[in-house]
Amino acid sequence: MNASNASQSWVVVADDPAVTGLVEVARTVADEVVAVVVGARPVADTVAAGVDRVVWLGEPGAVPLEAFAPQVAELVAAARPVAVVGAATPAGRALLGAVAARTQAPVLGGVRTVSVADGRVVVTHAVMGGIAERTVALEGGPAVLAVEAGAVPAGGATAPVAEVAGAPLDAATVTQVRPKVRAGVDLGAASVVVGVGRGLKAEADLGLIRGLAAAVHGEVACSRPLAEGVEWLPKESYIGISGQHVAPDLYVAVAISGQLQHMVGVRDAKVIVAVNNDKNAPVFGQCDYGVVGDLYQVVPALTAALGGSDD
Ligand SMILES: Cc1cc2nc3c(=O)[nH]c(=O)nc-3n(C[C@H](O)[C@H](O)[C@H](O)COP(=O)(O)OP(=O)(O)OC[C@H]3O[C@@H](n4cnc5c(N)ncnc54)[C@H](O)[C@@H]3O)c2cc1C
Repeated sequence: MNASNASQSWVVVADDPAVTGLVEVARTVADEVVAVVVGARPVADTVAAGVDRVVWLGEPGAVPLEAFAPQVAELVAAARPVAVVGAATPAGRALLGAVAARTQAPVLGGVRTVSVADGRVVVTHAVMGGIAERTVALEGGPAVLAVEAGAVPAGGATAPVAEVAGAPLDAATVTQVRPKVRAGVDLGAASVVVGVGRGLKAEADLGLIRGLAAAVHGEVACSRPLAEGVEWLPKESYIGISGQHVAPDLYVAVAISGQLQHMVGVRDAKVIVAVNNDKNAPVFGQCDYGVVGDLYQVVPALTAALGGSDD
């Protein structure tokens, strides 16, 4: 790719108009922000409230949005923006991947900060599941960045929306869309989370954990083996590198050994309390308060002390 147009960033949008996070990053490195939208017209109109110009590829109909990725990549490559920002969602990543392949640029995810120094875009982003940060300086092509989407732009100044005829790949057709039935667990919003691990002997014993969670007005979560192994709790309930990342005021880890893959998911918890019958469990090196003991004695005692009862 030839030298970038330093005054312009692009955001690539699938069908989610929650783009304030994308636009914020895009504006950090360029004055003008252009959005290319492959979703339906209302998405383009909503996005227009937050950017300077919108390129809309027309109604996608029964074509999966990912099929527009090569066309998006061509449009972006022709504009030579200094940065291309998309949402860290499956559709967003597909679009960014095509842009990166076309422009021969790496996609950087988990973006924490973006700045410009000496004509280069400098990106700090999370690596290794969030336990480390890496700083990368990019030049000679766009910075292709996957970021948290943010919110829907508030109404107000509306940028022009230019329609460009969509030219999707014709190999795929959407034949059915079924909403996913969610478990109703909103761990991200919980101020207290009680996580339970493989030390629990039976599914019926979850009542003990639910009782403790109710006593502390918290949500129940778990380690991966309980959700993906024995399936005692829904997959949305497990915390860790490949599960949920949570930031509650209090995380109570019951019979969880404290493996890195789990603890990464609670590294932003303000206070961690661990209950484990093995005094050498790694979790005791990562908690603020620890109780060495059998969960079948400690949890009912804690629940009772907090004025609650078992399920
Ligand atoms: C690529 C990859 C990704 C992974 N991603 C995740 C992830 O996102 N989240 C995740 O959780 N895991 C993940 N894992 C699995 C992870 O490595 C651990 O295997 C898992 O977290 C262990 O779960 P646990 O602590 O519940 O079980 P264990 O490690 O078996 O620990 C059980 C603990 O319970 C204690 N215990 C037993 N009985 C009692 C009792 N009666 N009272 C009190 N304590 C008791 C034991 O002392 C022990 O410390 C991943 C693994 C891989 C390879």
